Amino acid sequence: MIVTALPSPPDERRLAVVPPAIERLSKLGHEVRLPTGYGAPLHLSDEVLSAAGATMVPPAEARKSAEIALVVTPPEPASLEGLQRGTFVVGFLDPFFALPTVRALAERGLRGMCVELMPRSTYAQKMDALSSQANLAGYAAVVLAAQRIDKVLPMMSTPAGTIAPARVFVLGVGVAGLQAIATAKRLGARVDAYDTRPVVAEQVRSLGARFVEFDLGIEVGQTEQGYAQALTDEQLERQRAQMAKVVAQSDVVITTAQVFGRAAPRLLDAAAIGGMKPGSVVVDLAASTGGNVEGSVAGQEVVTEGGVQILGLHPLAASVARDASLMYSANLTHLIEHAWPDGELRSASEDEVVDAVLLVDDGAVRHEAVRDQMEATA
Ligand code: NAD
Repeated sequence: MIVTALPSPPDERRLAVVPPAIERLSKLGHEVRLPTGYGAPLHLSDEVLSAAGATMVPPAEARKSAEIALVVTPPEPASLEGLQRGTFVVGFLDPFFALPTVRALAERGLRGMCVELMPRSTYAQKMDALSSQANLAGYAAVVLAAQRIDKVLPMMSTPAGTIAPARVFVLGVGVAGLQAIATAKRLGARVDAYDTRPVVAEQVRSLGARFVEFDLGIEVGQTEQGYAQALTDEQLERQRAQMAKVVAQSDVVITTAQVFGRAAPRLLDAAAIGGMKPGSVVVDLAASTGGNVEGSVAGQEVVTEGGVQILGLHPLAASVARDASLMYSANLTHLIEHAWPDGELRSASEDEVVDAVLLVDDGAVRHEAVRDQMEATA
């Protein structure tokens, strides 16, 4: 297959394909044709990309000849210009929110492979870009909070006195939350964590953190894919009321709670934030899907009147763009290797991975929940 990559938007430093992946794709018999200057966000020159096996060509030529076009973020409809009908656009397509992109793919006869829809199975882990990026985002959230907060994270005993460890509260213990807990523990903080899925309590404890229990009136389950079930308004209200005390005691709160395919649940309201000490830091990793925190703004840092910093920076994995690109391009390479074993696409009716990720094919959107969302917003 002839593989290219569409340039990332100016504020996105991650790349969909970097040298180890270029080498791997070339070894597998694919031809990687990249637009000149593609590596600039990571200071990778055309020479470095060529040495890895890529052919550097003018951007229009890269698009015209591509059979697969890799992306980091959902391409704006205008940036699909120049791709031939039938080309596969592969990467993060943000299927429930970037609906203009999904529509444009279908209308232009392009095919969309959406990595957010990857099954959460052991076999698919190597192709799971949501996990690889969430893992780095969890790390980056703690590092960011440690930079912004006006105290140290570990306990320090010094001749001048003893400094108490910072208290970090991680809300939502999926992939990002687990990495945030591990990173905060490594930096010496005292860590509390909570998730509606009780199955994660043991994992939290094994990282040396405390799992806080709240009574929501029912046991909350998880879907077959391992995702959280959405809470009712009444359950969310109970959760917010019980969390206020832990939040007020915390120097740093990191929220990662998501419910697949829906807006993120609102977990911290202005009253809870108002109970925190001035100088405290809240990192809202769900800011781009509506936010777990009242007052958080995607892509921005906000300081409340009470002096609490709410950081909605997104996507945080992009702050460690080199490693994020390494992981992401490896995920995409594994997907290509799986989906096109001998240059032929596996049939969606026979393959679980292709069936799950192939969002747009033959001018149609194949995923029912995405179709519903499109109809609801038409
Ligand atoms: P996610 O990003 O969808 O959500 C993050 C966390 O928020 C989840 O743990 C969820 O339970 C939690 N959450 C939702 N509503 C909440 C609320 N009201 N209060 C507190 N927490 C709330 O999750 P994810 O990181 O994508 O992981 C989802 C699941 O998939 C997990 O069980 C994870 O272990 C599993 N997983 C499996 C694989 C695999 O086997 N290939 C890979 C990745 C993740």
